[in-house]
Amino acid sequence: MRAINFSPGPAALPLAVLKQAREEFTDWHGSGMSVMEMSHRGKEFIAIHAQAEADLRELLAIPANYKVLFMQGGAIGENAIVPMNMLRGLTGADYINSGEWSKKSIKEAGKYCKVNVAASSAEQNFTCIPPRASWQLDPNAAYVHICANETIGGVEYHYTPDTGAVPLVADMSSNLLSRPVDVARYGLIYGGAQKNLGPAGLTIVIVRDDLIGQAHPFTPSAFDYKLQADSDSMYNTPPSYGIYIAGLVFKWIKQQGGLSAMETHNRRKAALLYDYLDSNSFYSNKVARTDRSLMNVPFALRDAALDAQFLKGAAARNMVQLKGHRAVGGMRASIYNAMPYEGVVALVDYLREFAKQHG
Ligand SMILES: *Cc1c(COP(=O)(O)O)cnc(C)c1O
Repeated sequence: MRAINFSPGPAALPLAVLKQAREEFTDWHGSGMSVMEMSHRGKEFIAIHAQAEADLRELLAIPANYKVLFMQGGAIGENAIVPMNMLRGLTGADYINSGEWSKKSIKEAGKYCKVNVAASSAEQNFTCIPPRASWQLDPNAAYVHICANETIGGVEYHYTPDTGAVPLVADMSSNLLSRPVDVARYGLIYGGAQKNLGPAGLTIVIVRDDLIGQAHPFTPSAFDYKLQADSDSMYNTPPSYGIYIAGLVFKWIKQQGGLSAMETHNRRKAALLYDYLDSNSFYSNKVARTDRSLMNVPFALRDAALDAQFLKGAAARNMVQLKGHRAVGGMRASIYNAMPYEGVVALVDYLREFAKQHG
């Protein structure tokens, strides 16, 4: 039996994708090989790779002057790889601090450049996105970095901030492909695959081509965007099985109707859960309503002494991974693309029942 899996990541994948991967596991399309046994330079894998890139480009309507790179190292790796590649001879970059993942990015970037924290919601305990009007941007910054969706705190940008001529860089690890994005408004978008689009080990980078080619000389070759772009992400062996699974997920999203359909699906699930949490005093979510994440919904029980019992009851109903991150406490339901509406219905039914018993 499949669990109703609220894991923040690695997270649930569409069952149809897993079944297709199982079908093709030992013999991909009559090749006599599993995808993980193929040369990345062979015609079979080159076709898988090209199709995955084409489908991702179609889903996000990525303009032709953007490179799509399939890399390794995760978003935490990108925290270093971004400044190495994107400083372009400049000395500093602006970072917006909206929570735990922003903090990690800021700390890592500090090893490579002068970091200007242009705005922070630390004083609000990271329950909101710092309002754009409060940002103290440096016109000479190499880029402005945001975390588009704070997976731990459950705060998300619902607009694309205007940063003028300075390129906007976004960590979209936990909301990429959850809804349409105007890629042209970003200089660079990156994210690990394991939240919303595939297995851990694959990192997606989408970067405007005029911003690459000026990596710092100490940049490892495997992490040089220009080298990777010039060799179709095959300067080193790419995470081939991860690219294959992500490719199946891209096809699945297309079959669901693309990113507008995903947005409708995700808004419907999030509304069901937030509306219930707001409707009573037994549960609470402290995030500013305008900035609430559609993907990660942290919530607290009125009495934290009931947390363990709550999780036990959830597990008995086949609902797993609801424990909140230690930085925030309480609970967190991650409801990425692959979470069906019925999964959120089951959660809300349980929330109601538990509140009735203990309220
Ligand atoms: C999960 C996550 C990360 C870390 O990803 P790794 O794959 O562990 O490097 C970074 N940023 C955000 C927003 C995340 O959700």
